[in-house]
Amino acid sequence: MEPQPSAPAELLDRIFSSKSLPSAPAVAIRLLELADDPDSEVRAMAAVLAMDPVLAARVLRASNSAYFGSRVEIRSLEDAIPLLGRAAVTSLALSFSLSDKAMRVGPLAHHYRRFWLRCAVQASAAETLSRFGIQAPAGELFMQGLLLDLGQLALLKTLGAEYGRILDEASRGEAGGERLVALERERLGLTHALVGAAWIARWGLPHRIHVLVEHHHAPAGSVPESLEADGILAAMRIASVVGDCFLRLSPTTSLTSLASHLQDRLRLPDDQVLQFLLAADHRVTEAVTLLSADAKDRMTAVELMAEAAEHWSSMALQQGLGQDGSRATRELVQENDELRRQVFLDPLTRLYNRRFVDEMLRQDIDTTPRGGGGVALLFLDLDRFKSVNDTHGHVVGDRILIEVAHTLQRGVRGDDLVARYGGEEFVILVRNPSVQGLVGLASRLREAVESLDVQHNGSPVPVTLSVGGAMSAATPSATPDIEALVVRADQAMYASKHRGRNRITIRTPEGSILVGPEEILQEAGRETGTERPVLTKGGAGRPGGLRNRTPW
Ligand code: GH3
Ligand code: MG
Ligand code: MG
Repeated sequence: MEPQPSAPAELLDRIFSSKSLPSAPAVAIRLLELADDPDSEVRAMAAVLAMDPVLAARVLRASNSAYFGSRVEIRSLEDAIPLLGRAAVTSLALSFSLSDKAMRVGPLAHHYRRFWLRCAVQASAAETLSRFGIQAPAGELFMQGLLLDLGQLALLKTLGAEYGRILDEASRGEAGGERLVALERERLGLTHALVGAAWIARWGLPHRIHVLVEHHHAPAGSVPESLEADGILAAMRIASVVGDCFLRLSPTTSLTSLASHLQDRLRLPDDQVLQFLLAADHRVTEAVTLLSADAKDRMTAVELMAEAAEHWSSMALQQGLGQDGSRATRELVQENDELRRQVFLDPLTRLYNRRFVDEMLRQDIDTTPRGGGGVALLFLDLDRFKSVNDTHGHVVGDRILIEVAHTLQRGVRGDDLVARYGGEEFVILVRNPSVQGLVGLASRLREAVESLDVQHNGSPVPVTLSVGGAMSAATPSATPDIEALVVRADQAMYASKHRGRNRITIRTPEGSILVGPEEILQEAGRETGTERPVLTKGGAGRPGGLRNRTPW
């Protein structure tokens, strides 16, 4: 039997007197007070943090993580705090002290997992908004985003399975994230926003922090005007919707809602909606590691777009067939039309299209100065494809394009991005490449395509491609010039064509590496110096091919 809804005050009492509620994390709260005091010194914060050695160690470890992208090892709290920012240090300390191992086991484990993932997503999304028109410091947005749904933790800790059922039910259906709030009102008579705000208020934290938590689900018009005008509240509402998107709560509804929030509230042009989503996605990956969250339930920006695209095209189809010509559907289709155009999949191969690559490249420029590592591009162009079409027809040509697309997709690592750049041209974006890895990848792909067994009318159709690659210099201070990288990769591809096709040319900052089907690896001098072969056989595709190179 479902418990009867309790009166809010009674339920709040029950929550806050429960022994299961994590005790107020003293160190984190002292830090929160200090973070809010503009006159407090880094030294004072470091001293407070040092009182909890486990916490201090975790903050130190976080400061050396990819999220903050420091190039030198951070060894002291005094160095860590200015790097992370006071707000981020504080919120990390808070979330570290609220998570415990008990959350990883038992019947509620998946709810806790989703909760921490949501924290990571919302903190990253909020922080990313500082680059998309929200006038507030990134660290403050990160902190507020991280604290946003703390009420869910309190409810899980104290009501256990009773709240778990509400979360389960909210995750079904098409209503998106707002369904949770409606169910909470119905079953509990209060929302996680209220519980979170009450919990934070009990710690004596600044009023602003808990007021923002309290109102992050309140519809526009129902909050005080001064608060409504606060950019941070807008950021929190958006972060919350991004949380729904990435946690797969009716992704299409959530994505539509995100787009209208960004357009209505921040006046972001359409193309920026996607940029924002990709930028947030990038930060989420790092924040998940930072908070030791589990990304199992996470949807990526690309999956979101793809799912939305399918949904929209099937709706448009239905509408075209007149099966559902209702006004609501028509409006939804129109409303989503702009977003649909931003969907970045090539319909023939289901790979990403050129626009997507361009966006990703731009994102990578934005993030490279922090992340280091650099990027590489491979251009892969099918050889004499026009004559394949002329001889065997376009249908066969299309089938080959699909086969090649699958072959490339299968041949790369998860974080490499394969796209169809043009008609019979593909591109692969490789992150944090090594010269050896890049040559190996290009060689494997070239071989795999050459080995494809394509038949038409009983006769084999040979398929090969020419590859050009370019790597950005891995100097930490330099931002890769993406346009130059594209040009160099393209030129390298043409160099492979000129050398006879079915070949690889990789331009590194040091010179060129040439690979052919006979597995001859050559290295050319810097610029266009004479090409000097440095290795025969040994298989550039195999690891060690470069490492063991011996002059000819
Ligand atoms: P090269 O080795 O120099 O690259 O020769 P190529 O014939 O591949 O190059 P070219 O640029 O002259 O021709 C590219 C051909 O690719 C033209 C077109 O028939 C074919 N192509 C482009 N897009 C598609 C497509 O979507 N489907 C099919 N079947 N063919 C396509
Ligand atoms: Mg919420
Ligand atoms: Mg071609």
